[in-house]
Amino acid sequence: MPLSIWHGKMDKQGIMECIRVLEELYGVVRAEKIDPVDLLIQTILSQNTSDRNSLRAFANLKRAFPGHEELLAAPVEEIADQIREGGLADIKAPRIKEALARIKQDRGSVTLAFLAKCGREKGLEYLQSLPGVGPKTASVVLLFAFGLPLMPVDTHVFRVSRRLGLIPEDATQKKAQEILEEWVPPEKYLSMHLNLIRHGRLICRARGARHEECPLRHICDCYLRATSLK
Ligand code: SF4
Repeated sequence: MPLSIWHGKMDKQGIMECIRVLEELYGVVRAEKIDPVDLLIQTILSQNTSDRNSLRAFANLKRAFPGHEELLAAPVEEIADQIREGGLADIKAPRIKEALARIKQDRGSVTLAFLAKCGREKGLEYLQSLPGVGPKTASVVLLFAFGLPLMPVDTHVFRVSRRLGLIPEDATQKKAQEILEEWVPPEKYLSMHLNLIRHGRLICRARGARHEECPLRHICDCYLRATSLK
């Protein structure tokens, strides 16, 4: 999307300041090596639940079925039992099993390694063709497992970006991702994504943002507008 469509309330200098402040506050994030199939399963499990619950569900699942082939061969009811702590187990279990079955049918084994050579658009297309995988899940897998240039937008990234003035008030999540990918330098996607999530959980919370503790006040559109009205 051309940048000219959205004349953000924050300019390029503001974005770089935002990235710098967040890295100072939460650290510079480095990519870790993650198995893409595990990451896909984890991301499906993380939908509509807390990190704590989804991590527990994933740990239970790995304990019961350490290998992807074992997991694929397991009855869907047993998969659901293992992920019960993560919520929506009866929806997520068949999605996980069907996604693994589709991958095996397409690739001959349960692997997503081929995505490393697909590029971002083909990778997104393939992942989003799997059950239970939308743009956010697909972007997370491609960014974290393969380092492809994508900026996934979850609920925290969406809220904090809107408050800061990085995206318009009425942006959809799809548009938000396009704008952030245009504004943020690609080498900072991972760091910005994770740090906006941290900031959204700890300070710029959905209910009760802690403005007074926030080191982004000087560039935050929401804060500057509110204080100029006082
Ligand atoms: S100043 Fe307030 S609204 Fe702006 S980013 Fe910080 S906590 Fe969020």
